Amino acid sequence: AGRFAQPSEKRPGVTFDDVAGQDQAKTEVAELVEFLREPDRFQRVGAEVPHGVLLMGPPGTGKTLLAKALAGEADVPFFSTSGSEFIEVFVGVGAGRVRKMFEAARKAAPAVIFIDELDSIGRTRGTGLGGGHDEREQTLNQILAELDGFGGKEAVVVLAATNRPDVLDPALLRPGRFDRHVVLNLPDRMARRAILDIHARDLPLVDPNDLEAIAAGTPGFSGADLKNLLNEAAIQAARRHGDSITEADLQEARDKVMMGTVRTLAIHP
Ligand code: ATP
Repeated sequence: AGRFAQPSEKRPGVTFDDVAGQDQAKTEVAELVEFLREPDRFQRVGAEVPHGVLLMGPPGTGKTLLAKALAGEADVPFFSTSGSEFIEVFVGVGAGRVRKMFEAARKAAPAVIFIDELDSIGRTRGTGLGGGHDEREQTLNQILAELDGFGGKEAVVVLAATNRPDVLDPALLRPGRFDRHVVLNLPDRMARRAILDIHARDLPLVDPNDLEAIAAGTPGFSGADLKNLLNEAAIQAARRHGDSITEADLQEARDKVMMGTVRTLAIHP
């Protein structure tokens, strides 16, 4: 999706089974499934279900995946956009786009809205550097207005993701806005193994138990890194004209991804 792409709507075929580890985060998000499936049951007794959920965690830990899984489990439409798409657009465009996305989601309700990289629009107001600043502020204000505009009645859940909760404008975190916070962490050894297993499902590994050593040897890797590692291993196997993925392919891929990580860290401290 380019920077000027319209917010997209789809029904993701993703479920909680596709998300490995992150048990606490899954449990918290799962509470919303019932509401999205049968909003009437909650509305009938005047129960107000939270609309705004902030997913916080390092890059590649599965925030987008978890948001999609919520929509997938509830079998409702998924509207998504990224905060970075609102940078450098003309003043008023971002706010208009936000309004349209919320309008579409309300029409399609029950529905899930996902805003990735919330921090790129949701930084504390008044600290922008000229340029896109007014635009960003208007976009942010529109998001706040939309969140405030939800009555207890609308079955729309808004998830936003950030890896910089510390820079967010406190207005975003007030009650009735993104007042539920769900933390995703880098996976431990067991979770890394589970993530590797999920992404190796359709790969021809010589011995699936080779993944145990890989899980043990990849502390600090995110889910996205692990997925990337498996793909690198498959490329490695193809390069040497193999038809299955060996332990050596996996080790080599691990070293490659690890070096890539080091390089990225060196460029963006
Ligand atoms: P970013 O902050 O960079 O947007 P993110 O936290 O939203 O990252 P995702 O985009 O959800 O991360 O993850 C990237 C990919 O990594 C996913 O599509 C998924 O395939 C894989 N992945 C990440 N975490 C997990 C996990 N816990 N279980 C299974 N796969 C995962």
